[in-house]
Amino acid sequence: MTYTGPVYRPPYEANSLLLQVTVGCAHNACTFCTMYRDTKFKVEPIDQIEQDLKEAARLYPNTKRVFLVNGDAFVLSARRLKPIAELIHKYLPFVEVISMYASVNNVKGKSDEELRELVKLGIRDLWVGVETGHAKTLQYLNKGFTLEEAEKQLKRLNDAGMPFYFGFMFGAAGSGLNQENAKATAKLINATNPAGVVPTTLGAFGDSPLAKEVEKGNFTPSTEIDVLDEQMKLIKLININTMYMGIHGLNTVAFDAQLPRDKEQVLTRIQNAKDNLNPSYLNSVPERHSV
Ligand code: SF4
Repeated sequence: MTYTGPVYRPPYEANSLLLQVTVGCAHNACTFCTMYRDTKFKVEPIDQIEQDLKEAARLYPNTKRVFLVNGDAFVLSARRLKPIAELIHKYLPFVEVISMYASVNNVKGKSDEELRELVKLGIRDLWVGVETGHAKTLQYLNKGFTLEEAEKQLKRLNDAGMPFYFGFMFGAAGSGLNQENAKATAKLINATNPAGVVPTTLGAFGDSPLAKEVEKGNFTPSTEIDVLDEQMKLIKLININTMYMGIHGLNTVAFDAQLPRDKEQVLTRIQNAKDNLNPSYLNSVPERHSV
């Protein structure tokens, strides 16, 4: 298999075949993100993708799930994604799901009809990095879309029958805005009905623009106790049936749950962490080095 540049995947895709179709991230401008900062975006040639699939057919013939690498692979047009999906089914006939990272803008770039055609080809379970439902924070993080666009495009995925996972970050709005961020993000989640919600926790990574803002005193990161309170508030406010997929290593209290079924149980778990963790840790801003 050919892999160029850094490769990231959600923890939940650990057993998926990773097939590289793009290098880097086409947006590559989120304030907090350093993942592909030094990697030039490009689309992998279809011949290389086919060679990788031939190899996968030899090595992993029973593959059921493929994750298309890299940072926003759904940026590929439907015209490019369709032949890739067809080749996947040709060489790996047991594949049921083709998933990938996606931006709200990648959805915007496809018609309703194209989305439905992609669903028929097994493309679903998009990992959409929304990060927050707080309009000003969304702008500050430079995601490249507005709150209204996020709601509209995520609803289009629902209408097309393409399930998605809603990625977001505790602490995204910074100190003092944790409760507001939880309320706004829960509101967007409830309105857009994702199959799962996937939290991580904001860090001022490396030499990201956000880290520079923190250095200059323009952005104050949240303390751990504020992040845990934000987590509790958000879980309390989610009122749809959805998976809570929170095992990412950046989360202090990390768990999977089914909401609303497990709500009381997980709230108790976070409360226990608040009661038992060292107060100096809870009142600090733990360093988070990288996603
Ligand atoms: S967070 Fe996602 S969309 Fe934003 S720059 Fe990083 S990889 Fe690209």
